[in-house]
Amino acid sequence: MRPIRYRLTLMMMILIGLSMLGAGMAMANVFKDSHIDLQEENMRREINLIQAMMDFPELTGEEAVSYYTDKSKQLRTLADARLTFISKDGVVIGDSESDPSRMDNHLSREEIIQAKAEGMGSIIRYSSTIGEDMIYVALPVKEDGFDGFIRLSMSLKTVDQGVRQGWTVMGGGLIILFVIAAFVSYRVAASMTSPLEKITSVARRITKRDYDARVQLNRKDEIGQLSLAINAMADSLQTQLKTIRDNEDLLQSVLNNMTGGILLLSYDGNIVLINRAAEEMLGIKADHVIGKSYRELRQHYELTKLIEQGLEHRNQIHEERSLYFPVESIVRLDGVAMVQDDGAYRGMLFLLQDVTDIRRLERMRSEFVANVSHELKTPLAAVKGFAETLLGGVQDEKTSRSFLQIIYDESERLNRLIRDILELSKIESKRIAMEYSPIHLSTFFESLMELMQPAADHKKIGLQIQVPEELFMEGDEDKLRQIFTNLLSNAINYTQEGGRVQLTVREIHMIDHGEAVEFIVKDSGIGIPKKDLPRIFERFYRVNKSRSRSSGGTGLGLSIVKHLVDLHHGSIRVESELGMGSSFIIEIPLLQEND
Ligand code: ADP
Repeated sequence: MRPIRYRLTLMMMILIGLSMLGAGMAMANVFKDSHIDLQEENMRREINLIQAMMDFPELTGEEAVSYYTDKSKQLRTLADARLTFISKDGVVIGDSESDPSRMDNHLSREEIIQAKAEGMGSIIRYSSTIGEDMIYVALPVKEDGFDGFIRLSMSLKTVDQGVRQGWTVMGGGLIILFVIAAFVSYRVAASMTSPLEKITSVARRITKRDYDARVQLNRKDEIGQLSLAINAMADSLQTQLKTIRDNEDLLQSVLNNMTGGILLLSYDGNIVLINRAAEEMLGIKADHVIGKSYRELRQHYELTKLIEQGLEHRNQIHEERSLYFPVESIVRLDGVAMVQDDGAYRGMLFLLQDVTDIRRLERMRSEFVANVSHELKTPLAAVKGFAETLLGGVQDEKTSRSFLQIIYDESERLNRLIRDILELSKIESKRIAMEYSPIHLSTFFESLMELMQPAADHKKIGLQIQVPEELFMEGDEDKLRQIFTNLLSNAINYTQEGGRVQLTVREIHMIDHGEAVEFIVKDSGIGIPKKDLPRIFERFYRVNKSRSRSSGGTGLGLSIVKHLVDLHHGSIRVESELGMGSSFIIEIPLLQEND
């Protein structure tokens, strides 16, 4: 499409061109006419002059013809025109160009008829004698010796030449004028269309989502109104879009920050939306599955089955399923059919909740209850059995005493068990508050060693500590004491007589926690089989039940230690070789962040 400004310019040019052409032609005509009039007038005057200048002797016949022929030839140069003398009866008696005897009677010539009738005849006609357009002017002349017409004729060539010259000048002027007009009309057209072009370009930018585009026009007319309207439209689009974007952002951030997974399927089973939590739970990327069928989730076979059911029956779903990818987990699925306001079915909305931890805790709790009752039952059965025997009587004093000793030991054991269970449940339920204070480690361990020394001496075990004199750390002193009492008693318990137990403390740099303290409790005892290593921090887990029991263990010590280390934001691990001894390595940050 040609821009409107060119079409407008073209139209204006055609109009200007046509009117200039018309005016030019009219002017040329007027020019020609006036030129001819002037010529006629000149010729008339020349005839009058000739009449006045010439003698008209009384001559007849051949004499007259030769006289007037001569005269006409003489005067021809003067008048610069063909001169003809015609007698009253139309016979040519002298002509400057032709032989009069060969010329026909001129009475029927129009200029003569006119001259006769009106006193002057003038006509333009093609002369076959000369072969050009000629202007003829004839006047009736009546003198003593002449009664007839004097006629002058001139070629129109000179007139035409004049006209042509006029045309050249005028045409040149017209062309210059035309160029100026073209320029002016282009400017006019441009000034009319350029605001429209501006508005169009802004509208185009807005279509291409450039909502900052505005029309910059300072006009009060209709075009100014139009640009104001377009700017207002862009303003309102911008605000509306911002509202939509804000809402979208809000919705997006709600969806992405939810702990529950959201999965939205269209009525034909295509995945419409999936949030970050669902992505993580299902081990997929939204970009890969959006717009595709739910069957893309086929690695979750049971889940796909459920979705299929939901889509088919459009009923509510509340189920739990195990997922095996990307990690093994248990997911609760709540599905509802989504229905539009007009009742149309839109698809299914699924909420996915990872209930792995809840289920594991539940399982652990029931296992714990079972374990606890089992652990309590054994000493209780012993107490009950021996008490019954004693009540039955007939034992000698020594046996009775040993029975009473067993009852005492078992109730002591029960006591320890109950204390440890209570302690553990307190720690696990996070009901205990941490009381941090700066601890001078060498003082701390010296007093702890004094407590442990009797048990070590009893088994002739060498107890060594190595603590940097100047080292301080932040921690809950009671809980740290509990940790090391447990570890050191274990080390003494599970080491043969004459063995060695060593505690080393040093400052280290932990990658993610900065400065930290490392504690190593190392013994030369019986060690722990490789297969048991991963489990010894579990509650009630014991490598050798009877050995632990005989040494008074409850199977809860390391579990408590692990929890207490966790409370200090630290870590614990064990290295051991069967028969060679064990090392428990603890790392705790030097400073505790308040949480
Ligand atoms: P217990 O009260 O039985 O000692 P713990 O939780 O303290 O319970 O320890 C769990 C088990 O880990 C123990 O029964 C024992 O088999 C093993 N164990 C703990 N410390 C050591 C050690 N220093 N050397 C060898 N085995 C150990």
